[in-house]
Amino acid sequence: MTQFTRRAFMQGSLAAGVTAAAGGSVVSGAESSTAIPTEHLDAWADGGPVLRLEGLDDPVEIESITLLRAETDAGTYYFVRVRSTDGAEGYSVPNFWVSDLHPVFNQRVAPYFVGKDARDLEELVDEVYRHRSNYKLQSLGLWCPVAWTEFAILDMLGRMLEKPVGELMGGVLHSEIPVYPASGNRGNTPEAEVEHLQWLLEDTGCNAVKFRVGGRMSNNEDSLPGRSETLIPLARQRLGDDVVLFTDSNSSYDVAHGIRLGRLMEEHGYGFFEEPCPFDWLEETRQVTEALDIPIAWGEQESSYWAFRWMIAHRGVDIVQPDLHYYGGFIRSARVARMCQAADLPLSLHLSGGLGYSQMIQFVSCMPNLYDYQEYKGDIRETGGWFDPPIVFRDGKLSVPTAPGFGMTAAPDLIQDAEEIA
Ligand SMILES: [Mg+2]
Repeated sequence: MTQFTRRAFMQGSLAAGVTAAAGGSVVSGAESSTAIPTEHLDAWADGGPVLRLEGLDDPVEIESITLLRAETDAGTYYFVRVRSTDGAEGYSVPNFWVSDLHPVFNQRVAPYFVGKDARDLEELVDEVYRHRSNYKLQSLGLWCPVAWTEFAILDMLGRMLEKPVGELMGGVLHSEIPVYPASGNRGNTPEAEVEHLQWLLEDTGCNAVKFRVGGRMSNNEDSLPGRSETLIPLARQRLGDDVVLFTDSNSSYDVAHGIRLGRLMEEHGYGFFEEPCPFDWLEETRQVTEALDIPIAWGEQESSYWAFRWMIAHRGVDIVQPDLHYYGGFIRSARVARMCQAADLPLSLHLSGGLGYSQMIQFVSCMPNLYDYQEYKGDIRETGGWFDPPIVFRDGKLSVPTAPGFGMTAAPDLIQDAEEIA
């Protein structure tokens, strides 16, 4: 896996290649002296089909796409089931936004795919954006429903070809994925949070953990006065030097405050600082990235290829974090991953809950440019047994399912008595 350093980017052979690709002149000037030509990133993103579907010689006409709600031993879960006219099936599990977004799914997204050839999935994911002016909903309100549809179709295609989705995406490179748990707390005392982080590390067996700083979209206000400034050194002191520590401000700070907090993290040897500024303040986030040595992570809220391209081209971010649901699925995220590869930037996906961990491990299993850790949310003990072989979480690493599609072999049984959500 990529061991990321900023110096590697500046000195590496890739930088020389970029210079050559741009006809000898890396774009420079007032914006950033390290900018990469966007043509170079586009060429990588567009570097041939994402999917390998050799062996599917005949059309795979989509007959139906159905949203279901099932009661399982692990609680209430939604499923998407896709069926072809030849009787093939595939399944996906949406994230929690489905309870708000099911009308978009049922009225604007799923119907577009019905009657189409599933082998054209890459084009369909692009065209549904324009269909019925869906682009006006641009953000996770549109792209989550597209992702749920895409996952189910990928699962069906994988089952038909008897290959895991990672193989359809170019070939599995990693059989285990190192992860870190993320604390969801804000507003508790630093002492209480450090105890919780200790528990998270013990409960998961991981040696890396993330916690929240700032007040969330709060214009520099903390969730408790002085909490972040106390928590950053306290977590290092109590958890020891061997634990890798990450923080996430969820868009809390302006540039000056972001830099100030980042410096405190640098003093205490933190691994990365996520979303220091409001998520769509691209230039401000870039300024924080440029000022600090600690890597800046960003991207969970982003739904625009063009914004990712700007941030990668202008070195506005050090670690790129698309969310497979929020960004509209594997195919779109793979194009971002290709741009990251072109810029020697590592990926560390954001997870939005549900069975996100199972989709994350399939996606990153075939990605060459990974950060040292991916995010882990959910509870493998509740749903890991739905996969064949069951997903194993050992020594801070998740195993990648090897069964066809997403490997969720229990899906047909789980939805047997499910209620259709029309
Ligand atoms: Mg975050």
